[in-house]
Amino acid sequence: MGAGWSLKGSRRPGSSDPSGRGGRWLLLGAVLATALVVGAFVVALVLGRLAASSQAAAKQHSNVLRTSAKLLVEVEGADSGQRGYLLTGNPSYLQTYTLVQADIPRQVDTLDALTGKTEQPQVDRLRILVAQKEAALARSIEVRRTQGMAAAVALADGDRGQVLTDQITAIVLPLVQDSQQQDMSSDRAAGRAGTAVLVAASVGVALAVGLLVLLIWLIAQRWRLATARRDAEHARDQLLKSLSQQATHDALTGLPNRRLVADRLEQALLRREPGRLVAVMYIDLDGFKAVNDQYGHARGDEVLLRAARRMRAALRPADTLARVGGDEFVAVCEGLTATEEGHAIADRLRRSAAHTLNDELALSIGASVGLVFTAPYEPSTPDGAQGRPVRLAISQLDLDAAVEDLLTSADDAMYEAKRQGRGRLAVYDVAMAAARHGRREDAAALRQAFDAGHLWVAYQPMVDLGTGEVLGVEALLRWTDPERGPIPPARFIATAEDSGLIQPIGEFVLRTACEQVAEWNTLREATGRPPLTVSVNVSSRQVSRPDFCGTVARTLAYGRLTPDLLCVEITEQVLIDAVGAGTAELEQLSGLGVRIALDDYGTGYSSLSHLHRFPIDVVKIDRSLVAGLGHSERDEALVSAIIGLARTLHRQPVAEGVETAAQASLLRAWGCQQGQGFLYAEALAALDLEAFLLRRGAGAAPLPSPRSTPAPDRSGRDPAEAEPA
Ligand code: C2E
Ligand code: CA
Ligand code: CA
Repeated sequence: MGAGWSLKGSRRPGSSDPSGRGGRWLLLGAVLATALVVGAFVVALVLGRLAASSQAAAKQHSNVLRTSAKLLVEVEGADSGQRGYLLTGNPSYLQTYTLVQADIPRQVDTLDALTGKTEQPQVDRLRILVAQKEAALARSIEVRRTQGMAAAVALADGDRGQVLTDQITAIVLPLVQDSQQQDMSSDRAAGRAGTAVLVAASVGVALAVGLLVLLIWLIAQRWRLATARRDAEHARDQLLKSLSQQATHDALTGLPNRRLVADRLEQALLRREPGRLVAVMYIDLDGFKAVNDQYGHARGDEVLLRAARRMRAALRPADTLARVGGDEFVAVCEGLTATEEGHAIADRLRRSAAHTLNDELALSIGASVGLVFTAPYEPSTPDGAQGRPVRLAISQLDLDAAVEDLLTSADDAMYEAKRQGRGRLAVYDVAMAAARHGRREDAAALRQAFDAGHLWVAYQPMVDLGTGEVLGVEALLRWTDPERGPIPPARFIATAEDSGLIQPIGEFVLRTACEQVAEWNTLREATGRPPLTVSVNVSSRQVSRPDFCGTVARTLAYGRLTPDLLCVEITEQVLIDAVGAGTAELEQLSGLGVRIALDDYGTGYSSLSHLHRFPIDVVKIDRSLVAGLGHSERDEALVSAIIGLARTLHRQPVAEGVETAAQASLLRAWGCQQGQGFLYAEALAALDLEAFLLRRGAGAAPLPSPRSTPAPDRSGRDPAEAEPA
């Protein structure tokens, strides 16, 4: 408890950030994309520059042509109609020459300034070339430098002009063609470069777009991942929160659970101040089971919830109320100055719970409260004073023990409150712990006895009060301890019920009795005597088992006993405890043909409505009333009234504890025909009962049989020895 346990949800340490690696990849991708985009741009730029320069060259070339044409005009004073020949060459591309034959235009615009940077050797070469070949033919040949170009110009008239033209052509054409070819190839190169640029640019753009898309996709992925992670974290936090809530709270009422109340109690013990008390209350709702059974679980939950709310409201805000079981609660109140304060709170609590349920349903429901206080904290006083449930100590182990002690003590007190009757408040004292230990030991001893076969079934004859004829038997459980001797049922039936052992033990009694009586009846058949009936006592815990009826039916079938020969004896407490589910079981049982007896009638409730609401066949008048016959007018009045009531309601009255003939005759006179008691016989071991029957019925008595003694595996010794004299 407490230690190492925290209410807070915690993140798993060392859980790696799943997006860390993704982030690095993303960064790498982004850098790569940027590099690629930049690279593509650089390539495109270089190619663009190349293309631009070749374009510029081409442009320059045409500029030169134009310029040269103007030059021609200028040189000759250019009459219109004259023919001029122009030879140009681009010195940058040493062998690029172009021959242009042009009609000199009539009007020439202002000539451009001809300031070229053509290197002299090129110009000279051109001039020489032309001059050498056909200088004579030319009226004038002039070579000038133009802007970046050399131009040779020849003017000629008439036929000479034609000849000159032809000659110049002959010289220059191959050069021109060559240059043209070069131009073309350079054009192609430029075209290729252009295409390359286009392709590169397209690829670059495509790549850039692709990368951009990739980048966007990656960012989107990352964002989605981050969102998903955030969602997952949120869900995890919620889960942790709800798990922590579940681990510490009750789902139905939302109240703290046992674990949390133990933790709170621990804190309260640690916080204790001198002279202050801590009170622990254990609350158990009385009769809640009936609500569940009769109204269903949904209604039961509702009632529980309301009871919880009311109890919560009855406490002070700082107090803790926890639900620690189906209908069990624990309250912890600290800082009390006197026990009276705790009593008052406990009483408020008790009344608040009871009030709710009574308000809600017309059922007698209450709350039993057990109360325990811690000893006042006196730092100077040594620990371990007698009867103090809590020793103040610092170690966690001692704290845990103190908390457990307090809860157990409060539970013990609650048990005592229940034992005293419902709706009570009991304050813990040490004797209760002893009682609990005693109960625990008793249960262990009973279990051992059952396993060892020390439990066996005795049979008390039930007789016709008029004739004394044995009509049936009541099966009564016996415990004979090899050392302690016989232990009366009054001492161990309650233990069996508390511990749940009544379940297997009850089935053992039912099975043994049915088989035994069926066997006797088989033997009686030959004598012509009517079969014996068998009455078996069953407790509330047995009846409220869902398959009780099935168990009875199977036992009857197995023992080959007809249902009408079995009578199940229940007390009124069964009707009260198992009012819902039990009713159905009883109806079913009655439907099987099994008879039902209301035991110990006349003590406790003796409710008229129980008698006529439930399928009761037999009313067993309690032996304490029968004992009063002959000397208690009150008992006589009661017994005669019960007999009258039973007969009126068509229930058969049966008297228990008939010890005298006078009692028998009184009972008979009032109309009670059947009874049992020491007057006839006490509860006998099977073998003794057979002897008894033999004595009674002379020749008609059954023969002894192997089954007439308790089964050796169930009883280690002759049960007859254990019978009280
Ligand atoms: P009960 O069902 O009322 O049983 C009758 C009790 O009265 C028996 O006590 C019986 O021995 C006693 N008795 C019979 N005739 C006389 C008589 O003339 N005078 C007096 N004073 N007493 C007489 P026993 O056997 O001690 O049983 C006590 C109770 O234990 C039973 O009361 C019954 O409630 C319970 N019990 C016994 N066997 C079983 C069992 O198998 N299952 C359950 N659930 N309860 C059992
Ligand atoms: Ca009985
Ligand atoms: Ca009885």
